Amino acid sequence: MPEYDYDLFVIGGGSGGVRASRMAATAGKRVGIAEEYQFGGTCVIRGCIPKKLFVYAAQYGEDIEDAAGFGWSIPARRFDWTTLVANKDKEVGRLSDLYVQNVQKAGAEIIYDRAELLNPHTILLTRSGRKATARYVLIATGSRPSHEGLEIPGIEHTISSNEALSLKRLPKRVIVVGGGYIAVEFAHIFHGLGCETTVVYRGDKVLRGFDEDMRDCLTGEMQRNGLRLVCNRNLRRIDKRDDKLFAFTDRHEVLEADAVMLAVGRRPNTEGLGLGRAGVRLGKAGEIIVDAFSCSSVPNIFAVGDVTNRLQLTPVAIHEAMCFVRTVFEGTPTPVDHRLVPTAVFSRPEIAAVGLTEASALNGGYAIDVYKSSFRPLKHTLSGRDTRPQFKLIVDSQTDRVLGCHIFGFDAAEIIQVVAVALKMNATKAQFDATIALHPTAAEELVTMRVKTYSKEPS
Ligand code: FAD
Ligand code: NDP
Repeated sequence: MPEYDYDLFVIGGGSGGVRASRMAATAGKRVGIAEEYQFGGTCVIRGCIPKKLFVYAAQYGEDIEDAAGFGWSIPARRFDWTTLVANKDKEVGRLSDLYVQNVQKAGAEIIYDRAELLNPHTILLTRSGRKATARYVLIATGSRPSHEGLEIPGIEHTISSNEALSLKRLPKRVIVVGGGYIAVEFAHIFHGLGCETTVVYRGDKVLRGFDEDMRDCLTGEMQRNGLRLVCNRNLRRIDKRDDKLFAFTDRHEVLEADAVMLAVGRRPNTEGLGLGRAGVRLGKAGEIIVDAFSCSSVPNIFAVGDVTNRLQLTPVAIHEAMCFVRTVFEGTPTPVDHRLVPTAVFSRPEIAAVGLTEASALNGGYAIDVYKSSFRPLKHTLSGRDTRPQFKLIVDSQTDRVLGCHIFGFDAAEIIQVVAVALKMNATKAQFDATIALHPTAAEELVTMRVKTYSKEPS
């Protein structure tokens, strides 16, 4: 008779939890996984996937406009929001089912319930009232939209990205509050679908933490395209009259809208999980504090993904889950590697990056050579669109190693994935230069930037 019901009990059926349960079950372990809502988690149900489908939808408007320069005339176009939401829901449902099937195929037991810890080895399934024991527990409960610290009368009239993905009607005028990934991406989605869109941001430039040139390029593009940016502002109050919302800023402006979406950050899902009872230590943002192997302050309790508030990205949650299984069940202690994680903001056009920004390289003590290229893409010589993509390489002056790559342009995310492989292999600028270009593409800029734009000494 085994000492515990399970070798591993996973709480949360999102990106991290599903990967860990599949891998551990495939390795022959007895695995249970509890999900309180829908398998697939944030990424599949209300994050990356539905968001990217909406990004595609939003791009068609521009593509149809661009087609005119290539000889196409397209009769009056009409967009139907209900069709988009219904098709999105169908695809999300299909993917969620696929997640369930894959977990079952691997041999893990699926439990549709909310799980909490009674002690380090005992889990309570709150709906059924069943108790289960496990040698190891993995917490992969993700995060949720948060507006903690924002005291705005009328905040109950706002929506978050969760609701924005399933609105009954597409609003005519939208205010998006925030300047991070979600704010920028959803502002572009709404704008692309024809909504009059205003971004209200407390700082002076959106996407803090991204390379300054990329931020400048995107800001210029947003302004040129009529996406209204109201920076250095906070909202003070929101009034609702009939179906209209009136948002008051701290500079005494009143912005009128049909929807106000808050995108001011997310909070780890750690409340009500019994973590205090089990002795699991939390950080200031409510995140589970873990070591390099994702082990919490309790030796048999591990945590991966957004709930640890390290890097809130799907492939990172998956990587952390795989390192956890290798460490605990496959006899290969594997610390998580958070270096050189590529990332993209799906604006129009996209920003994508891997490695150090110019500022972080200088702060990190590097003397750098910077290579920049800004150009008119071939496609837009005929479309007439005046977007100018920019490619930027940050190179270590001493070793010639490429420390960072930043792209503002169409398909930037697709390009940066491959650049990340080169950077992971410690590629030098000389090796970029020795690579023959593929013509005519935008990506060929990466291997044809011969002349450095400037050099800088560390700050
Ligand atoms: P989740 O995927 O959130 O899974 C947690 C699961 O746990 C949920 O299903 C939840 O219902 C369940 N749960 C919580 N508590 C309990 C409990 N007590 N019992 C049982 N079940 C529980 N990342 C990218 O890499 N690229 C993108 O383009 C991207 N776009 C995004 C867009 C949006 C709008 C958002 C919000 C996020 C986006 N992300 C993106 C981030 C990405 O979605 C997350 O980093 C990723 O989903 C985190 O995975 P996770 O396993 O940690 O948590
Ligand atoms: P971010 O951390 O990216 O952005 C939060 C924004 O809210 C920032 O602009 C921040 O301003 C602002 N903010 C925070 N607190 C306040 C406040 N009290 N008042 C006004 N503004 C405030 O979080 P998101 O919610 O946009 O996204 C969460 C995470 O999800 C991201 O960090 C990312 O990891 C992931 N994600 C990834 C995507 C992708 O890969 N494409 C897409 C969407 C999400 P300031 O900058 O001044 O602090």
